Formats: sequence, structure tokens, C-alpha cells
Amino acid sequence: MTGSPAARGTPTAAHSATPARRSPQEFRLGNEILAFRFVATLGERRAEPLERITTPEQLRAWCTANDLGGTDMPVSDALLRDARELREAIHRAGSAAAVDGTPEPADEELLNRWTARHRARLTLTGGRAQWHLPDTDPARAALAVVALDAVATLGGHRDGVIKRCEQPTCGGLFMDTSRGGRRRWCSMATCGNKMKKANLKAARGGA
Ligand SMILES: [Zn+2]
Repeated sequence: MTGSPAARGTPTAAHSATPARRSPQEFRLGNEILAFRFVATLGERRAEPLERITTPEQLRAWCTANDLGGTDMPVSDALLRDARELREAIHRAGSAAAVDGTPEPADEELLNRWTARHRARLTLTGGRAQWHLPDTDPARAALAVVALDAVATLGGHRDGVIKRCEQPTCGGLFMDTSRGGRRRWCSMATCGNKMKKANLKAARGGA
């Protein structure tokens, strides 16, 4: 094991000459909505897409970073493909919701197939809610939790308005729960900061 994601190629990037300095392991974990954090594993959607889960190991790392499964959880190549398919269905359905549209029936069916396979248990321990995954295929059960979160969010079980990030290259999704409904970025720490800097530069005549 080299641990190098570059060894497996860049499955989704349209350009083959993706520079190695881009680090796919830096997950965007600032989004409050689990399903939208998963959507953010593909970054820069409106520019040159940055795939952050290029290997099963990276998918496991994302799950672990989100309290879904341990560091020894088995993840197959097949599950990685299914995970990306789920992610893109969430993104399309969420993007439709962001413009007051309805998801495509095929995307709803895919999400519903995932939630039908939901097998994780939610427990309360020391005042903290935690998902417990089954021993059989825990990683698939972890993704079913993500699908469940997507359906609850897209289906209106949460307060707020689903929006697309306005940072021009991002294309990510977020839930605006601000009182005035004026939130514009998926994350203030990343996209918000980027736009603040760009605006400052423009105000100084630098752009
Ligand atoms: Zn963004």
C-alpha cells in the first residue's frame, strides 16, 4: 500500500493533468447537514472538479470523520462507486430543491432504495446521539444514514431553505437557517472567506 490516491488515477476529473499539489484528503466538514457534507466530497463542481474520495480508504476516512464507522471498517471498490452515485443523486435532487423544483423520479428512487436498506441504530449515550452500524457491511449502512439524512432534508423535515453556494466555482449545497435568509455560502470558513478576499481585491481595484 502506497497510500497515494494518484496511483489509482482521477476517475471523475475531465482533465488528466491534475496537479499532485491538490490534496483530495482535505474534507469539507463545515456544512451542518450530513448529506450536504457528503456532497462536498466533490469540490469545485463549477470549475475543475476536485474528487476527495478517489479510493475506498478515503471513503472510509470520510465516514470516520463524520462519526460513521471505525478506522478498520471494510470498504470495497463497488461501494465507492455506489457512494459516488448516491452523492450525485443527492446533489441533483438538492440542486432542484434549491430552485424550488422537484427531484427527478430516478434520483428519488435511488434515494429510496438506499433508505430501504437503512440498518443502523441511533443510540443516546451520555447525552450524545450516536449511530451504531451493523457488523455486516457497515460502510453500506453508513451511507444509508447519509441517504436518510438527505431524504429528511430534501423532504422538508428540517427548518430552513436549501440553497446552492454562490461562490462561483463551488456548486455545493447548504441549508440557510439564518433569520433574514441571507446566507450565501456553503461555509463561511471556506467559500465565504474566498469571496470576502475576492471582493476586497475588487474594491482595491485589483480585479
Ligand atoms: Zn461553497
